[in-house]
Amino acid sequence: MINKQGIAASSGIAIAKAYHLAVPDLSFEKKKIDNPNTEIERLNKALEISKQELEKIRTHTKNELGDEHAEIFSAHLLVLSDPELINPITDKIKSDNVMAEAALEEIANMFIDMFKNMDNEYMRERAADIQDVTKRVMAHLLGVSFPDPALIDEEVIVIANDLTPSDTAQLNRQFVKGFATDIGGRTSHSAIMARSLEIPAVVGTKNITEEVSQHDMIIVDGLEGIVLINPSEDELANYREKQAAYAEQKEVWAQLKDEPTFTKDGEQVELAGNIGTPEDVTGVLNNGGEAVGLYRTEFLYMGKNALPTEEEQYEAYKSVLEQMDGKPVVVRTLDIGGDKELDYLDLPKEMNPFLGFRAIRFCLENEAVFRPQLRALLRASAHGNLKIMFPMVATLEEFRQAKAILLDEKEALKKDGFKISDDIEVGIMVEIPSTAVIAKQFAKEVDFFSIGTNDLIQYTMAADRMNERVSYLYQPYHPAILNLLNNVIEAAHSEGKWVGMCGEMAGDSIAIPILLGLGLDEFSMSATSILPARTQLRDLSKGKLASYKDKLLSMGTAEEVVAFIKEKTE
Ligand code: PEP
Ligand code: MG
Repeated sequence: MINKQGIAASSGIAIAKAYHLAVPDLSFEKKKIDNPNTEIERLNKALEISKQELEKIRTHTKNELGDEHAEIFSAHLLVLSDPELINPITDKIKSDNVMAEAALEEIANMFIDMFKNMDNEYMRERAADIQDVTKRVMAHLLGVSFPDPALIDEEVIVIANDLTPSDTAQLNRQFVKGFATDIGGRTSHSAIMARSLEIPAVVGTKNITEEVSQHDMIIVDGLEGIVLINPSEDELANYREKQAAYAEQKEVWAQLKDEPTFTKDGEQVELAGNIGTPEDVTGVLNNGGEAVGLYRTEFLYMGKNALPTEEEQYEAYKSVLEQMDGKPVVVRTLDIGGDKELDYLDLPKEMNPFLGFRAIRFCLENEAVFRPQLRALLRASAHGNLKIMFPMVATLEEFRQAKAILLDEKEALKKDGFKISDDIEVGIMVEIPSTAVIAKQFAKEVDFFSIGTNDLIQYTMAADRMNERVSYLYQPYHPAILNLLNNVIEAAHSEGKWVGMCGEMAGDSIAIPILLGLGLDEFSMSATSILPARTQLRDLSKGKLASYKDKLLSMGTAEEVVAFIKEKTE
């Protein structure tokens, strides 16, 4: 039995067998062959199994996520049946007397290099398809198993180095009971997705993939951030009890589901949920969310091989607004870049993706991507209470430019006879220190702020939110952060604007009393944090916490802040 400590990323306890998601080692030793026909037979067999698997994945993806998402697997199947790729491989085996693995590798790489360098986007996508499918065929030639998260059909705990957003999109929600990863922190997207899927997760264990073998028994303790590998009978019994106690605790929280959020001294705040897909709205409503405070629209753009159409986006936004039935829905425009890549856009790799060409920077330079999203949002506005916000705004010019494009599309749609709401608030995420520092100037022009502490902390402390080596510097309670937050909240209120927070800090039980004292109006968090937060807020007095503000802001370290707030709220 081994215990691994990581970062508690999504609460709850999960117990199941391990499912290893790592791509296997596909290297091989080149050997002389005796009979080319045997190699061709091996190749054909590997191709056949790969096709059968892809067929299954395509059907599964179509049923779970729809035609659009399944398209990529149709493209993969076409590659495997394309004589222009397969014939040269068999020719090579015959003419050069080489192993099937070597012929596959050489011919596939030749096509990948050729297509990759073409000017045509369609051909570049083919390069990515060939790369993907040859890995699968190679695994079968080598007799190693290739992970297929979409095909999981029994309860498992997924073990991976990291889960990219598109891996997560493919996971079968019914069977994946939890996951544990080598890298990542509480604010990496794998962690955020785990919370929206409401499955326990531990991230940043450093090397869980090395310690776990396929089908080992695993306990993921998402409350303490511990993973147990092959636990003893006693431990299993112990954790089953813990699991039951947590379920009971959830029932107590659930009693507040339909209650408004009032503090002990009668002040009201809004508790909202963060979502990534229209399906996540159910989780927000079931957990008593009063609004959607952040809809991360980038998931609409991921896990597929082309941009979503305006129509597709309109349907998604409309669905969220209708499900929320008049309650506020804050939709963030595309925040791509950082750890969220879109293969089909083929953006050049950057040295510092978190400081690079992402979010609003990308959208302002790619209006052909930005405008359809704004049009879809504007059209959807007729179906509910929509608020739009732009991510990663660093300068006033960026906000003005983005808003001008929005207004331009609004005029155009109105001229074309579309019904558009006249009450759409337009705000920004405050997640770059420059914006937090001159929040006063921004507050005159925006309708609201939503503070994105996941990024604001990493930029203020110069500590990559994905890098566990510097996670000790990722300090939400650092007085530098608190002073920035205070600046933003005061600036908003002095202009009569509201200010929310949609970074993970908003749902953190140590941060909540501090944020309440600073005057935050809206707290937007993972759905599962809403009811614990409501329970906590009912015991806090806003007036009393506000009186500690000057003291907290003048402290020197995060440690002092935490010790002080704990003492005052116990
Ligand atoms: C943030 O930065 O706090 C935020 C909510 O955005 P994301 O986590 O998607 O970068
Ligand atoms: Mg952010």
